[in-house]
Amino acid sequence: MLNSNRYLLGLTWLVAIFLVPFPFVQTLSAGLPAIYNQDKTMILFGTIAYSWMLLAMYISTRPKWLDRLIGLPNAYMIHGILSLAAIVLAYLHKSNLRSDGWIKLTGNWALYLFIGLGLYSMIFMAGWLTNRVPALRWIKQSLERVFKHEVSILIHRLNVVATGLIFIHVLLIPYIRQIVPFTVLFVAASLFVFGAYAMTFVHRRLITAKLINNVEIKPNVRQLTLKLHKHLDIYPGDFVFLSFPKVKLMKEPHPFSIVNAPSDSNELVLAIRGDGDFTRQLATIQVNESVVINGGFGMYQSVINENHPDNLMIIAGGIGIVPLLSIVDGNPDLKTTIFYSVSNENNLLYQDKFDQWEQRDNFRVFRQIGRFNQEAIANRLPKNTQKTVVLIGGPDKMGTQWIKNLRRLGVRRSQIYYERFSW
Ligand SMILES: Cc1cc2nc3c(=O)[nH]c(=O)nc-3n(C[C@H](O)[C@H](O)[C@H](O)COP(=O)(O)OP(=O)(O)OC[C@H]3O[C@@H](n4cnc5c(N)ncnc54)[C@H](O)[C@@H]3O)c2cc1C
Repeated sequence: MLNSNRYLLGLTWLVAIFLVPFPFVQTLSAGLPAIYNQDKTMILFGTIAYSWMLLAMYISTRPKWLDRLIGLPNAYMIHGILSLAAIVLAYLHKSNLRSDGWIKLTGNWALYLFIGLGLYSMIFMAGWLTNRVPALRWIKQSLERVFKHEVSILIHRLNVVATGLIFIHVLLIPYIRQIVPFTVLFVAASLFVFGAYAMTFVHRRLITAKLINNVEIKPNVRQLTLKLHKHLDIYPGDFVFLSFPKVKLMKEPHPFSIVNAPSDSNELVLAIRGDGDFTRQLATIQVNESVVINGGFGMYQSVINENHPDNLMIIAGGIGIVPLLSIVDGNPDLKTTIFYSVSNENNLLYQDKFDQWEQRDNFRVFRQIGRFNQEAIANRLPKNTQKTVVLIGGPDKMGTQWIKNLRRLGVRRSQIYYERFSW
């Protein structure tokens, strides 16, 4: 990750941990009657937990500004870690305070829901965690045949119900309700976040494009061409969320990268491998079908824009080449070397594009069946890598291994960027 991105990510963490809860803590602690002083810390833990839950819910609406700032994978990591920290605080809050009646019931139901959903989500929804912990990855892969991603998304949405229960829980407490500045802030922030969340469902119904072509370009890989009804801010290397609101079982948005650099024609090309229910069902979608596209998201192009490199090196494996095709397409003046590996020859995508790019004297491609070894790439690294940016696309293992290899070869971490296909 680039230095500027690291700085922004650190700053976002600080805002999330301290700045977001601050007004809640400040207004509540200023207005809390003195007889509750003994319980003050635990009461404040409750409000910090709620502010983090609201923030986690807001992040789940995938704000575009946040994606361009730190990238959606990092935003999802903040979402996950803050939610888990909120559960710990909520547990301490519940264990150390007494309550009765509906106040107790709503608080308890919410906490049990949060704990159950937290455990479930750590396995099925937190790619940032399963990518790092092999045991969790193994459990996820073993159970995924039953707990499909779509099912997990539905289950995960119960977090909104739990957050709603906390909203009621707090408003039921008379001495809290009477602290006007806190209550105004609490209600306004909740309405804003629940409103933003509800809007995502409205957006899912707004048709933004039409499918104009759908062909199989390689075994198990389809190319979809979409005509956008209006201009979207999409840059080379971006991904978009795609769904078909009128097709059964295709209404849940899924992320896919763009093959072509966006142009005035407002046509988007996607290349999609059939990995599961949604991606395999694409074969049945007819031309002219209505499409919802949400995007663009992603940071490949911003990494180039911020670094002004002289050299671009791309390491891609399998379907991970897709976003990097649009990077090459959209940056024709940048000296580019690509290392593109696939598991068998039939999987080599877009040979015609490579043939065309090879006419340029600033472009080289090395294609290979099976992985490249470290020497193959080391020998082709420029002597001075200061002005080189390396972009990686492909499976998790490949990405993390190449980050290690490149660092061993003396490339600074801040010059390498890898965007995963799983979060
Ligand atoms: C940033 C990004 C860019 C991507 N670009 C491409 C691309 O250009 N071409 C391509 O073929 N694939 C791409 N993918 C992968 C693609 O999104 C998944 O293969 C697809 O969503 C699988 O859905 P499914 O229902 O067919 O399979 P499932 O069996 O439901 O899922 C297979 C795996 O895909 C992941 N996945 C499923 N649904 C989602 C979702 N809604 N959001 C995030 N992850 C999900 C899960 O980790 C799951 O383990 C990209 C993924 C990401 C995160």
